[in-house]
Order: sequence, then C-alpha cells, then structure tokens
Amino acid sequence: MFKGMINRVCLGLVLLYLGGDLFGQAKKLKQPQEPGKMLVTGEYEFIAKDEFGTLGLSGAMMRAEGARKAQGKALSPQMQKSYDSLLTPFEKSKGLGTANYFECVAWYKQLAATFPAYCSLQSIGLGDVGKDIYVLKLNGPATETMDRFGNGDLGIEAGSKVEVKPIVKVLINNNIHPGEPEGTDACMILLRDMLFFGQYWQQVLPYLQLHVICQYNVDGTLTRSGTSRANQNGPVEYGFRGNAQNLDLNRDFIKLDSRNAKSLVGLMAMEQYDLFIDNHTSNGADYQYVLTYFHTRPEKLQPGLTDVLIPFEKSLKERLTANQWPTAPYVETIKTVPDSGLFAFWEGGRYATGFAALHHTLGYTVETHMLKPFSQRMLGTLAFMEQFLIAATAPSLRNEFSTVRRKNVDFAPKPIGKWMPIQFQLDQTKFTEIDFLGFESGYRPSEISGADRLVYDRTRPWSKKVKYYDQYRCTDSILVPSAYIVPFAYGDVIQKLKLNKVVCKPIPFDTVTMLRVSYINEFKTVNHPYEKHYMHHGVKTRDTVLAVQLRAGDVVVPITSVNAKFVVSVLEPRAADSYFAWNAFDGVLMQKEGYSDYVFEDLAADWLKAHPEKRAEFLRKKANDSEFAKDSWGQLNWVYKQSAHYEKTHNLYPVYRLD
Ligand SMILES: [Zn+2]
Repeated sequence: MFKGMINRVCLGLVLLYLGGDLFGQAKKLKQPQEPGKMLVTGEYEFIAKDEFGTLGLSGAMMRAEGARKAQGKALSPQMQKSYDSLLTPFEKSKGLGTANYFECVAWYKQLAATFPAYCSLQSIGLGDVGKDIYVLKLNGPATETMDRFGNGDLGIEAGSKVEVKPIVKVLINNNIHPGEPEGTDACMILLRDMLFFGQYWQQVLPYLQLHVICQYNVDGTLTRSGTSRANQNGPVEYGFRGNAQNLDLNRDFIKLDSRNAKSLVGLMAMEQYDLFIDNHTSNGADYQYVLTYFHTRPEKLQPGLTDVLIPFEKSLKERLTANQWPTAPYVETIKTVPDSGLFAFWEGGRYATGFAALHHTLGYTVETHMLKPFSQRMLGTLAFMEQFLIAATAPSLRNEFSTVRRKNVDFAPKPIGKWMPIQFQLDQTKFTEIDFLGFESGYRPSEISGADRLVYDRTRPWSKKVKYYDQYRCTDSILVPSAYIVPFAYGDVIQKLKLNKVVCKPIPFDTVTMLRVSYINEFKTVNHPYEKHYMHHGVKTRDTVLAVQLRAGDVVVPITSVNAKFVVSVLEPRAADSYFAWNAFDGVLMQKEGYSDYVFEDLAADWLKAHPEKRAEFLRKKANDSEFAKDSWGQLNWVYKQSAHYEKTHNLYPVYRLD
C-alpha cells in the first residue's frame, strides 16, 4: 500500500506533467523493435492506473483537477498554486531539459521558502568559479507535526521548536559531472513531492535526515552545451565535466585542489552521514538496463559495517526489482562486452563514494545508461532514490545504521598495533554468476578505418548468466601506529587533515625522539599530468627507526577508531591515494647536495681505507655485480651514499610514526 503511494506521488504526478508526448513515447516503448527500452514500460503502465487521472492528461491544471477529485488527498487551493509554481525545468520541457544553475538555485530558494519549518537551503561554500554550492537540508522528523495539506495547512512557522531525532542521515550529490544531470532534476521532484505530499511519506520522513547537494560542480554546470557528451541521449543541453580549473571533481576528494571539494569534504566530515548517493550517467557497453549502480566495496570498510550494508543492499535490490526497475552492477567488463563477465568497480579515496567510505559512510554510485532517453534516466534515478530512502528507513533497518556504526566505529577499540590493508587487487579466481540482460554483439568493418568495429544488435536481446567478479584481496598492509607526526612545514597537508576533522595537536617545544620512519626506495610516476598532478604509484619503502628532530609547531595526529581508516589511507606513502602519491612530499625526492668526482675520488679512497667492513662489502659487490664493476660513477656514488656526506633526508618520507 505504502509502496504504491510512493510511486503514485513521485512517479505518477511527474509523468502526468510530462503529458501527451511521453504517453506517446510510452506506447512506442512497447514496440518489440526497441527491446532496450521495453524495460520501463511497466512504469508507464503503472502510472496509467494512477487514481489521479490517465496519462493523456498534461499540465498543472489537469493534475490539480485530478488531485481534487481524489478525496482526502487534495491540496488546498493555496498549496496547489504553490505546487504549480514549482514545476521543474525537466517537467516544463516534457522531459527533455535539465535545470541550469540559475533555475536550480531560484527553484530551491522557492521550495525552502515554502516549507521553512521542514527544510533549509544553505551554501556550503564556493566552487572555483566563485558561485555558491547549495545544500538543501530536509529535516524529516519535523514533518511528523505536519497537518494534511488538504486542510489548508501552509506549514509551521520557521523557528518553531521541533524535536529533531535523526535516525538515518543521507547525503545525495548531483552534478559532480554536470553532463550527467539526472540527479539534479530527480532530486527537485523528489524533495518537492516529499514536502507537498508528506502524508504519504510518514513511514520514511520521521526517520530521515536528508541533505541534497543541488549542483556540486557549479562551474561545469554553468558551461552548457549539447555536444560534450558525444554518446549520450539527451538532455538537449547540459553542463561540462571539468570545473573552473578543468578538474574532474570525482577525483578530487583526497588532494582537494578545488574549492568545490574543500566545501563538500568539510560537510561530509562534519555530518558523518550513514548513507551517500552520487548520481551519474554511464559510458561504455550497451545493454538493456536503464539503471545500474555500485556500492562501496565491503573490503575497505571498517569491519562490521557490512552488518548493515549487506541487508540494506539486499532490500534495495529487491525493492527496485519489485518496482520494475531491474538493475545490474555498474557494468565494468572483463573483456569488451558484458558476455565476457563483469567485475566490481574499485573506487579509491579520490572518488566520492571511495572517500565516503573512509569516513564510514556507505556510498552508492548510480549510473544510468547513456543511450536511454534522458526522461527514462531521470525516472530511473528518481526510482532508485525513492526505494533507497524507503529501504533505509524500513523498521528492520532504520536503527541499524547508528547502532552498527557505534559498535564498530565510535566505540570500537583503536586499531593501534594491528595490520590494516592499504592496497587491493581483484581476485580473478572468485566469482558468482548473475543474471544479466544484454544485447548480442559482433563486428563489422568500420566506415572510418576499414578495421573491425564493435556493434550491438538491439533486435537481439539476451538474458543469461554472466560471471561477476566482486571480491578483492589485500596485497599490502601496514602496522597502525599510535600517532603520526606531520612537520609544520607541510601546512597544506595539516589543513587537509583538519578539514577532514582529524585532530592535529601541535608539539609545544623542540625535541628529539626515536620514531619509525620510511625511506622511499622505489616509485613510478605517470608520464602525463593526471588531474593537475604527476601521480606516483608502485611505491616501495624501507622502514627503520631514527632519532628525529621535531620542532615546536609540528603536529601529532593521534589514531582513533574513527579516524584510522582515513588517516592511514592518506599518510601511508604506499597507499594508492596517499598524499605522497598526489605529490605532497615531492621535495624529499630530490637530493640537495652532491660532489665533484675529481675531488671526491680522494676522499672516497681514504674513507674506504678507514672503514674496512664497508670496503669488504664494496669489493664483494664489485665481484658479484658485473654492471656495478663496469660503472665507475656508480662505484664512487656508492661510497658517497655510505659516507656521512650524503644527506639522510634524501628520500626520507617526512611523516613519522609513533608506535
Ligand atoms: Zn560521472
């Protein structure tokens, strides 16, 4: 019953607005020659049965008429007027357009002004373009006091004292890639209908604190065109992927080069959400699904959080299937086409959901299929979010998020002295078989090159089992210290830690302490700039203990059960998304002093005579290593590096560990 109502409010009314064009489209979708689009016909059939009218209706007046006829569910005349004035650009364009930045901000301001007791619109900071990024905060528990709108209630005055009992905290992010804007329009519709028809949502709202980032990449959202997404089926105009620094914001959560990321990371670290959705559109293979998604890999979560992730994921998937939104995991293919098998996407900390996991937030990335029409993709995103919120606040789960988190994070023992994984690799020996709805594929000569090119045949859909590789195994781990020490010199690193709500305690005086340190023995660097950096990878280190000179103002970062995942992932140099990998400590990779060969020759000969053990080692190396034996510069440099002349700080990773 409740499920039906949700659908009625959030899908039915939306599509009534879309009117005749979409009705026509719905009929067309049933044609077998478009099998890829048939999946959503169920939704349209359902809406045709809606008590508010039939699909032939269009426009606000007709919708209002239908609502008034539905006894006890009507809006008051004032509220109806208000509702009508909050038609979204998506609806006004009959599903072809998406809200631009100015439309979106004005619309949300109006929504917030209509329901001041239940929601607020706040800026979380500026994007690099110098414009505000807004979050709409919906205070679900406050809606318990809502009257039915049919009685003419216009909401409670702002400032009324309402007890806030957040149970499940959810953040939804839109337009991180502004060319993939389904979430923007779907969230507008979702929030509006939740507020206007709050009575239908009383199994959800009292247990929900929902924050929605209206448009995160405001910079890219302002740069509109209809061409930058070459393979995408609408909307007619959309924003650009890069922000004002031409950064992909879905790679910026650790390095924080953009103002955008600093704003959002601050919010996420402060609010400590239970759940997070990041809305996207896919690229890649063709298949039948409109809707695919993936969630945070359990392997990298704090152990125990899977106690809530697994049942939630099961419930969500069942709900989507029951509501005729069959889904598949985000399609990452083993070879070119889905028949070859799929594997689970691994999102490192640079990605939104990967970053969320470092703060113990269960992240979901929605990926609608680029080749499906925009209106279907918007509906798929809307349906996903609806079912997500219903599943999260269901009686069996609504208390679990905070309970499981308290037990496994907040009040868990500190992992000091324990091994923590920092690198993972897909286990290619372990897979399950999943049902998948794909298209036959083949090859034919390319008109461009004459070489074979891939084609999918949409007249030949298939349903079969495919292998799904979704287990990752740990390939590297570290021993968690009781604290890290970051020198004052690395103020930008300290600022990033603080932005993530990591406590950094300044040392009050100069001192020398024995600390565990790492020398960077090996690393590789990409050849071309990647998101404004020459990123390092394949890092190998040698650990040792040194007496380290610390100075007043260097900071101690104590490890806690809450911050360990994040701090280890950014401060351990071998971790894939560490600050080291993102070039924060490149200064130490360069030797500052050297020698003139002709001068050092004599010093080296004297040094070897004075150090007979080293001399024996030198001679052994010369005897056993033919390359070394031929390399006169290498031999001289070997002696230099053994001597006291060589600087001890060369390749010394400048973050130290207190065990
Ligand atoms: Zn994307």
